[in-house]
Amino acid sequence: MTYDAIILGAGAAGLFCAAQAGQRSKRVLVLERAPTPGKKILISGGGRCNFTNIGAGPANYLSANPHFAKSALSRYTARDFLDLVESYEIAWHEKTLGQLFCDQSARQIVAMLLEECDKAGTAGGSVEVLCDQDITEVEQTGGSYLVTSNGTLHGAHSLVIATGGPSIPKMGATGFAYDLARQFGLKVIEPRPALVPLTLGGEDVLFRDISGVSADVEAKSGKTAFRESALFTHRGLSGPSILQISSYWRNGETVAINFLPDHPQEWLLDAKRDHPRSSLKAILKEHLSDRLATILSEKLSLQTELGNAPDKSLRAAEAKLARWEFTPNGSEGFAKAEVTAGGIDTQELSSKTMEAKKVPSLYGIGEAVDVTGWLGGYNFQWAWASAWAAGHAL
Ligand SMILES: Cc1cc2nc3c(=O)[nH]c(=O)nc-3n(C[C@H](O)[C@H](O)[C@H](O)COP(=O)(O)OP(=O)(O)OC[C@H]3O[C@@H](n4cnc5c(N)ncnc54)[C@H](O)[C@@H]3O)c2cc1C
Repeated sequence: MTYDAIILGAGAAGLFCAAQAGQRSKRVLVLERAPTPGKKILISGGGRCNFTNIGAGPANYLSANPHFAKSALSRYTARDFLDLVESYEIAWHEKTLGQLFCDQSARQIVAMLLEECDKAGTAGGSVEVLCDQDITEVEQTGGSYLVTSNGTLHGAHSLVIATGGPSIPKMGATGFAYDLARQFGLKVIEPRPALVPLTLGGEDVLFRDISGVSADVEAKSGKTAFRESALFTHRGLSGPSILQISSYWRNGETVAINFLPDHPQEWLLDAKRDHPRSSLKAILKEHLSDRLATILSEKLSLQTELGNAPDKSLRAAEAKLARWEFTPNGSEGFAKAEVTAGGIDTQELSSKTMEAKKVPSLYGIGEAVDVTGWLGGYNFQWAWASAWAAGHAL
């Protein structure tokens, strides 16, 4: 049988794209390597799927071309996806910072996507999802795409690459999308782990002693800063602010942490005036956990009572607490990365349709493309928006 489109990958983007095209009367085949569709959706958001972020906009994404995501994000918005979720009476809540989660289970999102695919039938289209597929060959001949999977040859007018990125290989994630893109002559921006814990070595290993301690900090890399919690781990740094900044951090660079982002300038001099008999450690314990206050004050080597400390030393300690520089020796890699930054170069794709400019009827959507969202529902919103754009062009 020949299809209008073959979509490779039944993840967030692949399923949503299939549903859109199917509901526009297209005959669609989705080929998935895993035994079941939507596996990453099921584990997302701790099993509750942070399915979108109500404030999602182009500024929340990284890409070699920061303008690329604008069109798709504006044509299919977080509100549009929320309307769909509500039409299925899936109860949801905003956890924090515009992050929308299912009250019950991520399974509801997968079920919704599959039901959306089934609706193709009433529109005169069809969506067939085949799992456990081993795709061995993809070629383009005479205006159609031929895909050999489990030894069967499938043909279609269009082909959509929706196989995601290589983060969490334990779940079967691969760089298949990049191999395929390169096969068709499309450039790929070097993929790298993003939203990933950072590891500490050298002098910083001392901080591993306070594994389990968290603090509300501002983490900064270059000009980018995130104000959220950070967590010390037995390997280094994690927690939302670190995951966010990891997407911007490059090997060899520092990450600066402001441990007291709400404190005004000269607060330590004020503390000296108001509590001259106090130690720095005691003052820090008022704002930070005991173990963190202890290690920071030890490293600052300011053991005297504040009243006896020179103003110059207090200013230096304050400056250090506001900009504590860690030099991570790496990250926990694709094994722990929530997403992959980089991917199919956006210069190769139409921002309106996701179609490859020099390969007609070949599309790239979702995480496979060089558009990476912040932590907090942004990556799914990109999956929905890019899938919608392609689904309406197929
Ligand atoms: C632990 C975890 C939690 C996350 N939580 C959130 C969250 O709460 N909110 C958020 O916005 N984002 C979250 N993300 C990121 C989000 O899951 C992804 O950005 C999103 O799933 C990307 O959608 P996609 O369809 O492009 O890729 P995927 O959802 O990864 O789908 C790709 C599909 O292609 C299949 N595939 C791969 N190779 C082949 C092949 N060779 N042949 C056939 N099929 C293949 C895969 O099995 C997979 O089903 C999380 C990620 C992880 C790892």
